[in-house]
Amino acid sequence: MPNHSGATKPGYYWQCNRNPGHWKTFAAACGIGLVKFMYRLAEKNWDQRKLAIKCTDCQKGVMRINYHFPRSANPEQIEVRRIVGLNNKGRTYLPMLWEGKPLNGKDTWFDFKYVGRSDSGKYESYGLSKPAVFKKRELRNLFELYSKIAGVGRFP
Ligand SMILES: [Zn+2]
Repeated sequence: MPNHSGATKPGYYWQCNRNPGHWKTFAAACGIGLVKFMYRLAEKNWDQRKLAIKCTDCQKGVMRINYHFPRSANPEQIEVRRIVGLNNKGRTYLPMLWEGKPLNGKDTWFDFKYVGRSDSGKYESYGLSKPAVFKKRELRNLFELYSKIAGVGRFP
């Protein structure tokens, strides 16, 4: 669905919670691409406030990252609510846990993803369509970080 500037929706985009016609690419919403955005989020210790930005089309709504899952038939549109990840895996691998809410559902979904950087520093997004892999200890660290940031008790 093109927006008012005629652009086609990419796989991941920012959408207003008041008007689905208000959506922007990462470049338009943040001035940087998705992978760089995730590395910046990691540098900011997963500051969740970065995941909600004021809609510049209506000045009232909040824009969040949206995507569709699965990518095949009958996908759900998911609005991302939280993202946490592990910063200590080196600069080439940034594994994450995304919590999102399907637009037509109540329960949130948890999606393991990663982004990366090549040795030369180029940002790489192919990990978005593959699950991140964790050791047991890392999974525990990830869940502890999620619990702390989400302000919930023990998770899961
Ligand atoms: Zn709006």
